[in-house]
Amino acid sequence: MGRESKKKLEIRQLYKRRIFSFICERKETSRQEIAYALRISMPTVLQNVRELCESGYVQEVGQYESTGGRKATIITSCPDAKLSLGIDITKNYVDLLLVDLAGAIKEVKHVEMPFAREESYYKKLGELAKNILKGHKNLEDRLHGVGISVPGIVDEEKMIITYSHALGFRNLHCSVLSQYIPWPAYFINDANAAIMAELHYIDNDSTMAYLSLSNSVGGAVIINGELYKGINQRSCEFGHMRLIPHGKECYCGQLGCLDAYCSALVLSEACGGPLDGFFQKLNKGDPELKKVWETYLKNLAVAVINLRMAFDCDIMLGGYVGGYIEPYLPELRIMVGNLDTFGENGVSFLKACKCKQKASAFGAALQPINDFINHF
Ligand SMILES: [Zn+2]
Repeated sequence: MGRESKKKLEIRQLYKRRIFSFICERKETSRQEIAYALRISMPTVLQNVRELCESGYVQEVGQYESTGGRKATIITSCPDAKLSLGIDITKNYVDLLLVDLAGAIKEVKHVEMPFAREESYYKKLGELAKNILKGHKNLEDRLHGVGISVPGIVDEEKMIITYSHALGFRNLHCSVLSQYIPWPAYFINDANAAIMAELHYIDNDSTMAYLSLSNSVGGAVIINGELYKGINQRSCEFGHMRLIPHGKECYCGQLGCLDAYCSALVLSEACGGPLDGFFQKLNKGDPELKKVWETYLKNLAVAVINLRMAFDCDIMLGGYVGGYIEPYLPELRIMVGNLDTFGENGVSFLKACKCKQKASAFGAALQPINDFINHF
């Protein structure tokens, strides 16, 4: 192929990718809106939408109400055209979640399965993936990949999980973990996956910091829709920000880390049972747990204001505790407001996560989908 025609083909592919990406993002749209929003000529839009319809990735689903002229046809992506499986690996269990191109959840599975750096564990992981996909037709063509979320630091260039305290290892090659999963695997840190899940519900160009309050504390930051990963892929280890100098011992060996004060374990251990039990007893007025919760919120408020001072953007609370935080936000906002140096906007920057459960599995599942759309 000559240079000239290769360039033309690249430009045509670029137009097609932009149009397809726009249709997926908007959920529903029209040819006119595509042409206007992307500043692409109507004949180019018509041709690309026709090709996308023919290949089964896009469909016409009806017509918009007329605003005077000809009625515009409603176009959507065909969500079932591609599927993706998300797997969240944790210390004690595995969550699996199957999503379609539009991010709709098709199937969910939770399996108690303690992590072990052993062949039998990797094999079981492969079996779980294959089992959840049974019963979905034409899977070979439709499953774009498997997103795997891990509680550890993922070096995406070398494809190595360099460190996971929760799983108790250093330097595990990703291909070892996914060796029995017969589809392309995309690895992502669990907090990064959770913030990607949130991004699905809001503006793709958002900037925000996500504080993950699970059995360990972590986080992620998105700047204009892009994850900030840090030079060593260790950005946003908020759990090891020093909250109280010479304070309680953290699992990392240092003293006074935020994790020692704001992990979900602080709450579940106080009630001697699962986190849900903590909030049930708290709501029934248990005086001891009320004290624990007040102290927890006080410490959390300091962490929130520190993040706000550092990033000057929305701060979102997620992870296990984030799923329960909504009713307590007004109280927490007052506490944060009292610490706010600028304090002019009533702490509206503090938000609860929208994805309350299985956020990391969902965010992981979105990785192959995003890859498919970006390389269309
Ligand atoms: Zn620490």
